[in-house]
Amino acid sequence: MGPMTAAEFGALLVRHGLVDAAVHAIRVRNALVEMVRQFAYVSDSGQRSTGGLSTLQEAFAVLGLADPHDCDPNELCDEPGCRRLATCGFPVADAYRLTCGRHHDEY
Ligand SMILES: [Zn+2]
Repeated sequence: MGPMTAAEFGALLVRHGLVDAAVHAIRVRNALVEMVRQFAYVSDSGQRSTGGLSTLQEAFAVLGLADPHDCDPNELCDEPGCRRLATCGFPVADAYRLTCGRHHDEY
């Protein structure tokens, strides 16, 4: 008997339910990432925290996130020196700006 082909290996994974389990795990992880992005508190210094909410504490733990942790710089206001979350997007000249509410209002 020769080595297992990729198709045979794939069939083995499917037969043991491992593909479904992996897809389910990825979906659960993505749901937690979105839950954290939507509900965790972001300070004016660009740090995301659970705010002490136990549901978020568990999500942070599962995702291996420190509480608090620095947000991805791409999530923050593009005004130099500002560390607030970018919540407004608008076109300017030949660019598109993503700013916090304060810098949107000042624009
Ligand atoms: Zn700003």
